[in-house]
Amino acid sequence: MYKDEWFIMNYTLSLSNDQATDVIEKFKEHQVEPTNNYTLFRAKYKSATLTIFKTYTLIVQGSGAQKVFEEICSLLGLEVAEKEEKPQVKTELHSIIGTDEVGTGDFFGPIVVAGAFVPKNKIPYLMRLGIKDSKKMSDERVRAVAPILMKELPYSMLVLDNLKYNFLTRVRGCNMNKLKAHLHNNVIYKLLQIVKEYDRIVIDAFTTKEKYFEYIKDEKIKVENVDLEEKAESKHLAVAAASIIARYGFILEFDRLSKEVGLELPKGAGGKVDLAISKIMKLKSERFFDRIAKTNFKNFERYKRKDSI
Ligand code: MN
Repeated sequence: MYKDEWFIMNYTLSLSNDQATDVIEKFKEHQVEPTNNYTLFRAKYKSATLTIFKTYTLIVQGSGAQKVFEEICSLLGLEVAEKEEKPQVKTELHSIIGTDEVGTGDFFGPIVVAGAFVPKNKIPYLMRLGIKDSKKMSDERVRAVAPILMKELPYSMLVLDNLKYNFLTRVRGCNMNKLKAHLHNNVIYKLLQIVKEYDRIVIDAFTTKEKYFEYIKDEKIKVENVDLEEKAESKHLAVAAASIIARYGFILEFDRLSKEVGLELPKGAGGKVDLAISKIMKLKSERFFDRIAKTNFKNFERYKRKDSI
């Protein structure tokens, strides 16, 4: 009757490589064709469908899911939760707005903050897309998956370009966390213009809740009902989706800057970045960096010190 009723019958489990092999071995007689590229193995057995994704996440769904899930648990020697309890591995069913940021550790390129709304009935779909481990996703995967998320989910994104960043940090004396807080608050506010019904708002924590509100205390509009959670990206699909969308925005901007400089800019703030600074400095002025980089990073200080010796 309800769109997500079937999902309540879902049981999920994160498998190790060996456990996945054991489960596949046991159910291989019942194997059916996978329905997408993210599926490693799929079987139909006793009124249940059993799917193992390439991320080794196992999902059992259907009216026989509980029985089959119990069989799998005993095969793997795992304890199943008591009957009257909810299974411990059951996925939480909340409609969540999540936010995350990208670019704060990169000398080159902007800071991008994105927010995404995942209504609970879209959770199974997102799990099938295999978006849980976005930190481990390659740029290629991000380029492929982010446009799908942006089509399927309500989202918002803000890009703080380098000129603005350098102005705010150098002239206004803003610190990184204050900028992040400002951006997250605004991304959420934008998203709330299109999302009216949700259970929670979760920010991937970069500071404490107390400091977050201290940072945004002078803002005209403050969204108050937010939680900051550590490692929220691995706990909430909405935060994972937001981080993929933010990474996508960052990658596109990075492509544009690389083209403008005529050099493939390195990410991060390591030795490759130091090398790139020297190369660019041969062609452009110091002020050019205001447009492509965060000039308060140590990389830039180091270069200027070396240069003046
Ligand atoms: Mn984060």
